[in-house]
Amino acid sequence: MSMAYVVVGNGVAGVSAALAIRSRDARASIALVSDEGDHFFSRTALMYAFMDRLPRRAMEPYERHTWRERGIELVRARVADLDATQHRLTLGDGRTLPYDRLLLATGSRARRLDAPGITDDLAGLVHFVTLQDLDACEKYTPTTKRAVVVGGGLIGIELVECLRFHGVAVTFLVREPWYWPAALSRQEGEMAAAEMRRHGVDVREGAALASVERDANGRVSAVTTTAGETIACELLGVCVGVEPQVQWLKGVATPPTIGRGVKVDATLRASLDDVWAAGDCAELPDGRVESIWYSAKRQGALAGENMSGRPKAYAPPVFFNSAKLFELEYTTVGALADAEDGAESLYATHPTRALSWRIVHAGDKVLGFNALGSRWDHTVITRWIEEERPVDWVRENLRAAQFDVEFGRAPLKEMTARALPLERRGASK
Ligand SMILES: Cc1cc2nc3c(=O)[nH]c(=O)nc-3n(C[C@H](O)[C@H](O)[C@H](O)COP(=O)(O)OP(=O)(O)OC[C@H]3O[C@@H](n4cnc5c(N)ncnc54)[C@H](O)[C@@H]3O)c2cc1C
Repeated sequence: MSMAYVVVGNGVAGVSAALAIRSRDARASIALVSDEGDHFFSRTALMYAFMDRLPRRAMEPYERHTWRERGIELVRARVADLDATQHRLTLGDGRTLPYDRLLLATGSRARRLDAPGITDDLAGLVHFVTLQDLDACEKYTPTTKRAVVVGGGLIGIELVECLRFHGVAVTFLVREPWYWPAALSRQEGEMAAAEMRRHGVDVREGAALASVERDANGRVSAVTTTAGETIACELLGVCVGVEPQVQWLKGVATPPTIGRGVKVDATLRASLDDVWAAGDCAELPDGRVESIWYSAKRQGALAGENMSGRPKAYAPPVFFNSAKLFELEYTTVGALADAEDGAESLYATHPTRALSWRIVHAGDKVLGFNALGSRWDHTVITRWIEEERPVDWVRENLRAAQFDVEFGRAPLKEMTARALPLERRGASK
């Protein structure tokens, strides 16, 4: 008899798992369930859709016929219940879905902000994580002159950039003393804030939201900050981080063990028989939740292989990310703000241009690398970290990790390096 696999969540973890299962088992039935959209899309491309650079269809990394051709059934539904003793899911519309093996790949949801005046029905309140959030952003933006965005991380700056693109005046409230302390040093955060100000953003470090007012139509009309200032606005963006989408699992017939996410062992197995978890919703044995695209993809593919073959342990990759903070290139590799105790940092800047690199090291061992303003090949730096190259060697060879881009490489020789203490702020992503 052929095996029945069900994957909950059609994000990158879920689809990577479904495709891995199919490549190992040609006969299995595979169902991919999602309540968000009919087809897998690239969540990291949300901002390009909001800025009209991509039609929505172009956010889909696979042709739509892929699923039919691979024999993967797409089920558009919310999963409401899980009974692992019966090997059965119940969908929001009451249908049941039996499985032999189940993958939970339910991703993240936007963390909510609790403040007087914020309710779920507040018109003009938006997050920036799902397709439905994109719908809401597109609905409210044409009637917005000023927006306030709360939360100083990557998703916050992306929403700010989109709103500026559409000509909206934006105040960006960053609760911490500098922008994105979970990823950037104070100096780097100030460079990013200068870039935002260059694009007309009113950035307020050390400012948090105190309360929200609404107009007679139930739409946000103003926010008050903790400094006591009232800012009139028609749109409030809340981007205060994401959290694993696991709340619904606490109330099901047989909940798996849940900490911050669904707890898994080294092979991504959850605590229930024949249930695995992968991606943003999974909590690894060391307590980490890796809420990034590349990890979700890698975990999903491995979970799919483990569900349909001999299990292998998950080997977390050296952390890597790259983005553009408005026009400022950003590359990060390895451990930075989360580096081990006793770590130090070496920071180089250019005298006239918004360019920097920073090497975080413990003694001679390089742990991490951050760069702003120029493009870097993370694969080279990852290899150096894995090879435990000494700091001076890395510094001497940095040019080999630069991308040869159209307008040339950053002039490393014109940059001056100095030791910089590692300031830590436990802010969320
Ligand atoms: C704006 C934005 C920008 C980002 N930029 C970057 C970046 O530059 N680099 C990077 O590495 N990462 C980035 N990320 C993070 C990255 O997108 C995520 O780590 C990745 O998408 C996680 O994939 P996933 O498959 O685990 O979950 P998701 O993509 O969240 O997919 C989970 C799916 O499961 C569905 N689901 C949940 N519960 C249920 C249920 N009960 N029933 C049915 N379906 C359910 C959800 O609706 C969702 O569709 C960004 C995220 C956002 C929001």
